[in-house]
Amino acid sequence: MIHRKPVGRLRNITVTVDPSGSAYASCLFDDSLEAPVHELSEKPKVIGIDLNLERLAVCSDGTEHGNPHALKQHEKKLKHKQKLLSKKCKGSKNWKKLKTEIAVLHEKIADIRKDSIHKMTKRIVCDSQADVIVIEDLNVSGMMRNHKLSKHVQDALFYEIRRQIEYKCLWYGKTLVMADRFFASSRTCSNCGWHNDGLTLGDRQWECPVCHTRHDRDRNADMNLASFGLKALAGDAGEAKPLEMPSVDDRAATHLRSMASVKEEKDHGYSMEASRFA
Ligand SMILES: [Zn+2]
Repeated sequence: MIHRKPVGRLRNITVTVDPSGSAYASCLFDDSLEAPVHELSEKPKVIGIDLNLERLAVCSDGTEHGNPHALKQHEKKLKHKQKLLSKKCKGSKNWKKLKTEIAVLHEKIADIRKDSIHKMTKRIVCDSQADVIVIEDLNVSGMMRNHKLSKHVQDALFYEIRRQIEYKCLWYGKTLVMADRFFASSRTCSNCGWHNDGLTLGDRQWECPVCHTRHDRDRNADMNLASFGLKALAGDAGEAKPLEMPSVDDRAATHLRSMASVKEEKDHGYSMEASRFA
């Protein structure tokens, strides 16, 4: 089945065969079209996106994109089938049948994730009419090393979200700003800038003692990301200028990595999320 009529010159074809036996051919065509140029108005529309496990993406324009929890939806069924498989004689007819059923289930989970992330990133980058997208540079590999979190972090596929946002920004001519992973997006009051150093992992709501604004943790974080984006775009003369993209922070120093994972746990409440989802 051809999903879309191809345009341009065929560059290569990749044939993939899934463990369940389904085969796909991906054809890469060069349409020779240039990526749209980033042209920012004086007052660009900036959207900050806070990624977290529970709500997946909370945007500063008020939209939320829920986590489909693809693995959780089918986890019981998957575990049941895996248990049955362990009792079958390896290589037998029933063993092969179960093996295929498990592979189909894994593909189903992957498809739910892929589908929801594609829809979400398209809505964020294209449908939102935003000129500038600001996301946090999360240390995904650091999170994956934390065994308790890995399943849910994989489930949320933060890395995939960032990858899709990056290339979709290029496609649709949007500017992407990557906030430093040490940026205290959750702990800073988005109204007055006061730092709430006492914010704990369980504080989903908090009130600023200085300006008395009541904050939803994630909404406050994405508001801060949006203003971070505006500041990052303003050049010395106060003019908006697009940043180089993708501006992924690839600092390799190990002490920075370990500090980053501590910061992420503090700032995003991953530890708390993990216990909630465990
Ligand atoms: Zn305040």
